[in-house]
Amino acid sequence: MKSMEELVNVYFRPGRLPHLWCPGCGNGVILGALLKAIDAEGLEKDNVAIISGIGCSSRASGYVDFNTANTLHGRALPISTGLKMARPDLNVITLSGDGDCSAIGGNHLIHAVRRNVGLTLVVFNNSIYGMTGGQYSPLTPIGSRATTAPYLTIEPSFDILALAQAAGATFTARATTYHVPVLVDVLRKGIRHDGFSIIEVVTGCPTNFGRQNKIGAPALMMEWQKDHAVPRAAWEKLDDEARRGKFPIGVLFERTDEKEYTKAYDEIIERAQAAKKEETA
Ligand code: SF4
Repeated sequence: MKSMEELVNVYFRPGRLPHLWCPGCGNGVILGALLKAIDAEGLEKDNVAIISGIGCSSRASGYVDFNTANTLHGRALPISTGLKMARPDLNVITLSGDGDCSAIGGNHLIHAVRRNVGLTLVVFNNSIYGMTGGQYSPLTPIGSRATTAPYLTIEPSFDILALAQAAGATFTARATTYHVPVLVDVLRKGIRHDGFSIIEVVTGCPTNFGRQNKIGAPALMMEWQKDHAVPRAAWEKLDDEARRGKFPIGVLFERTDEKEYTKAYDEIIERAQAAKKEETA
């Protein structure tokens, strides 16, 4: 595997640096892991499209030298879907933050999942809207402080992978920015999956979530990830009491019994063309 320096030389757009992420932000860890996964899978740059929404994490698409688009808030998935329909040969990877993907983009998420469009969605879950100053998102844990919740949030968050699975997801996985080998592994498997894959990455926003919630330095946020994430095999052996406050990482669900959407769509085109031919015969 290439070193990070080699990956930067091959895949970054030097003219777009320096990046705007804060010191200690987890976004760079995720982008680095994604480059490792793409490189390890041997994908050609021209055959990869990185589409993002709006937010700190979504700035990632602009830094890398693939076919890229930094699109609209919450709309990365419909744009990714359109691109995949037009160019099914491309490896389309969609980057979205927890606010972007689960709030304004939540409805798009449900329908992209249920269609089983052949995309890989990477959800950067840092539990906050970082770019706009620290408002709480649907994935902010209850009892957290945010600029829109100075007296703590009273809304329960939800599990975005459970939502995706309920909507018919064929691949779900989770990792953290502490567990980089797990992150690279699930990204590779998600890219290879023939259908919609969603990968949630638990990451830290030290500036807006960490400061408001007095969690401390970025390293402490990663230590929290280390202490609360449980590899799936170990998770299966825990009872409900032992699972409380923790979460599983790794590939959590995969099935291959459903046709990928663009392939099913091609069959519709063939059927329509055959019917037209019969009509005119
Ligand atoms: Fe990262 Fe938060 Fe800074 Fe945005 S505000 S770059 S998410 S640390």
